[in-house]
Order: sequence, then C-alpha cells, then structure tokens
Amino acid sequence: MQPDGEQQRERQRDTGAPWRKWYKTARWRGLRLQVFARDLFQCRLPGCGRIEGNTARLVCDHIKPHRGNERLFWDTANLQTLCKTCHDSVKQAEEQASLHQRGVWD
Ligand SMILES: [Zn+2]
Repeated sequence: MQPDGEQQRERQRDTGAPWRKWYKTARWRGLRLQVFARDLFQCRLPGCGRIEGNTARLVCDHIKPHRGNERLFWDTANLQTLCKTCHDSVKQAEEQASLHQRGVWD
C-alpha cells in the first residue's frame, strides 16, 4: 500500500480545487459587478483609490481568504474592489507570507 492520499490531496488543492469553478459561474460574474458598483469602481486599497471604469482592470478580491469556504466566497461583505496593480502586489505579498506558513493550515 502506498501512502499516496496525502499527495493527491496536495495536488487537488492547487489545480483541481472545486472553488476554481465558482469563478466561472454567472453568479460570480454578477456578484463581481455588484461589488464594483457598490465600491463605485474605485480601488479600496488605502493610498490608491484609483477609479477604473474598465472592469477588466478591476479585481473582486476576498478580504479574508476563503480557502474553499463557500460562505466566505459568496459574502459581499468579504469582497472588495481592487485595481489590478494593487491586487497583483497584494497577492504577491500574500504568497510570500504563505511560504512561511506552509504546513500550518492543515
Ligand atoms: Zn489600487
């Protein structure tokens, strides 16, 4: 018997995670626009505040990482508008942090 269950779970978390599909739903697209409209198409990051009329350049960001939690994922109170530039730099910082925390979440 190979103890490969762990490995499989590891792989699934990255590419085959079920919540990845949630981003492709009409429900998400609608929610995303709703959040942009609520935030008046303005980046919520303190110090930025850029107003972006082109929604392709806006990101609907989860304030608290949902990590597959459906309730957090769909909660508009947990969603904020970020411009792409801010989102990419925040994301990068988060990934750096998660490198240090790897192993803690499970
Ligand atoms: Zn911004």
